Amino acid sequence: MDYERQPYRRCGRSGLLLPAVSLGLWHNFGGGKPLDSQRTILHKALDLGITHFDIADRYGPPLGAAESTFGRIFPRSMRDEVVVTTKGSNPMWDGPYGKGNSRKHLLATLDRSLERLGLDFVDIYYLHRDDPDTPLEEQVATLDHMVRTGRVLYVGVSNFSPERTAQAARLLRQLGTPLLVHQPSYSLLNRGIEDSLLGVLEEQGVGCVVYSPLAQGLLTDRYLDGIPADSRAAEGRFLTADRVTPEVLAFVRSLSELAEARGQTVAQLALAWALRDPRITSVLVGASSPEQLEANVAAVDNLDFTHEELAAIDRAAKE
Ligand code: NDP
Repeated sequence: MDYERQPYRRCGRSGLLLPAVSLGLWHNFGGGKPLDSQRTILHKALDLGITHFDIADRYGPPLGAAESTFGRIFPRSMRDEVVVTTKGSNPMWDGPYGKGNSRKHLLATLDRSLERLGLDFVDIYYLHRDDPDTPLEEQVATLDHMVRTGRVLYVGVSNFSPERTAQAARLLRQLGTPLLVHQPSYSLLNRGIEDSLLGVLEEQGVGCVVYSPLAQGLLTDRYLDGIPADSRAAEGRFLTADRVTPEVLAFVRSLSELAEARGQTVAQLALAWALRDPRITSVLVGASSPEQLEANVAAVDNLDFTHEELAAIDRAAKE
């Protein structure tokens, strides 16, 4: 593990440091991929100082496969050098207890996650989404219980509105288990959290780990010459080809010029841009090869932007 390769940033007002660039296992770690290539990506991540791996009970396919893969390929001797996360809420099995944020579902799905991961505890447990049908008090009390029973070290929420995040943070503080982190979507193509969520997180001392900072690959050179057969858009499950629009491609081309002037690729510019705000703790990238991951971590070599560069990026976004 090269701890010099990238900076570690404090997660909100907690004691926990996370790498600027973290790896998510949503794609590429399911049952259909060769274990060897998955192992190569994971080992590359460890070499690059990536100490933070983001998973969820559902990631696969099939459901649970990414956790099982991680359980098989993660070198146990490194357990104390990494932060492993998982999440619950989304449908996992049939019936009334197979989904949602009830205490009944969450405790069961966490126990199944730990079994697949082969771990006694996860470092961060997230509510994957809010559940308007379960009282927020029950949701946060369940997180607190997970910590008190030793299955979880820190707790987070994902995809929660700013208002519900503030409420959850207040309730968790009363219970003595502070809200560590929020995990929203954020990229040059999706800047919604700038309106109020980031302000709430700063006020509450909560970190922000952002997902899909490359907009699932749109903010890279991947689609400039068509849709490659091995790309996520060709797979079409979560990123469909109709999202590769002429407008997106024109935006990426104008970013390419700005990136080149900074000595970066578009992907590196997109990641550095997300990290320009000190309230963003870490960007969670996906990678279908070790080369992509290595290139993405190199974004940290130039994290500073001039006012002119930021203004040019904003102008390009509006065109
Ligand atoms: P990204 O926006 O980083 O997209 C990753 C994809 O972009 C890769 O799989 C690859 O696609 C392409 N890519 C990555 N790097 C490069 C590069 N250097 N050059 C060209 N193409 C590149 O993130 P994800 O959408 O994968 O999300 C990251 C993580 O965030 C997930 O794994 C998960 O942990 C988390 N997440 C959380 C959610 C939540 O609700 N909490 C929702 C979604 C994600 P290709 O396969 O085409 O090569």
